[in-house]
Amino acid sequence: MPYRPFLATMIQSAWRGYRVRTDQEMWDSLYPYTAPAYRNILTRYRSREDFERNYFGVEYELGDCLHRGLRHGVIRTPLERFDDFYCDWCAKDIEHTDQYRWTCEDCDFDICCECVAFAVQNETSDLWRVCYDTT
Ligand SMILES: [Zn+2]
Ligand SMILES: [Zn+2]
Repeated sequence: MPYRPFLATMIQSAWRGYRVRTDQEMWDSLYPYTAPAYRNILTRYRSREDFERNYFGVEYELGDCLHRGLRHGVIRTPLERFDDFYCDWCAKDIEHTDQYRWTCEDCDFDICCECVAFAVQNETSDLWRVCYDTT
């Protein structure tokens, strides 16, 4: 499948990063790779196609930003109630102690404070490859 150049670069760099991180066979066989920021990857990828199908390990839905070839434009949003949201990155429930969630208003993608804090300090992290801060 042909990709626009920007997306092709993103995929290539993410895939290369994934390969580098997982190129530790003994360690790998003991512990399947789990990305930082409590990202829940439960499967291991066997090919680049596998990896792309999961879009860097992030699930996406038809019509959302990633599906349209964009990134999520996330904005810091006060947490007015806390029982409805979970983090689309680490799958954790967003608790009232978080105070904020970071949300993409275009497609209802939410990230918890913890994941954002990690991503901001690690600008090359996988999370920042699929998001950008619009605030
Ligand atoms: Zn989005
Ligand atoms: Zn999270």
